[in-house]
Amino acid sequence: MSLSNVEIRQFPCLSDNFGVLVHDPDSGTTIAIDVPDAAPYLAVLDETGWTLTDILVTHHHWDHVQGLGELKTKTGANVTGPERSRTVISELQRTVEDGDKVMAGPFEITAIGTPGHTLDQISWYFPSLKMAHTGDTLFSLGCGRIFEGDLEMMWSSLSKLIRLLPADTSIYCGHEYTAANAAFSLTIDPDNDALKQRAAEVDALRAAGIPTLPTTMEQELATNPFLRASDPGIRKNLGLESATDAEVFAEIRTRKDNA
Ligand code: ZN
Ligand code: FE
Repeated sequence: MSLSNVEIRQFPCLSDNFGVLVHDPDSGTTIAIDVPDAAPYLAVLDETGWTLTDILVTHHHWDHVQGLGELKTKTGANVTGPERSRTVISELQRTVEDGDKVMAGPFEITAIGTPGHTLDQISWYFPSLKMAHTGDTLFSLGCGRIFEGDLEMMWSSLSKLIRLLPADTSIYCGHEYTAANAAFSLTIDPDNDALKQRAAEVDALRAAGIPTLPTTMEQELATNPFLRASDPGIRKNLGLESATDAEVFAEIRTRKDNA
């Protein structure tokens, strides 16, 4: 099996969401991840001539499933999403729980349960592509706001991503929030040179109208304060030298909520 021809397309949807398509020309497999809006997906499918085969859903929020019904009806694609939202997302045909693997064409995709933002949240990991879509759990320089879970649950989900996703994994996610996240991150980790460099790069990309995603696990581990609760500089800056990592994370998340 050769996946060297696989193409990944990311495009803006709604005001700050992303649409993502993964296309394997050899098998004719095309996978959408979340559908904030059907129209931009249909436009890319029309332009490329790709036939949508599968749709993966990260969580039940409207800005991730709003276009699902229309896209499913117009393409006949198979919809897979969280078992926990079986009754909430009526389009689901196949459901997954943490650790399940699903096949779509040549891809074996792992469902990583990452609750916190919502309880149903799934991060989709494509090991053969060294790529993951972390929904509204992990953003570039940020993490999702906690609506349904609690701080401890979110920290354990982010820790799971740190454990399971190798440094060279490309990270796609639900939102273009990186510029605001960068400004906040600098208040938590002001002496981090990698972060300062990334913040400057983010400003330049946004000024040019270019998305800041995908990122990589390596880049996030070096710059994203929500993954860096064990960092001595951050702990010192927050006056939390002897706290647990979960406590440091909780302080950072709480400050962001109040920022
Ligand atoms: Zn959400
Ligand atoms: Fe969202």
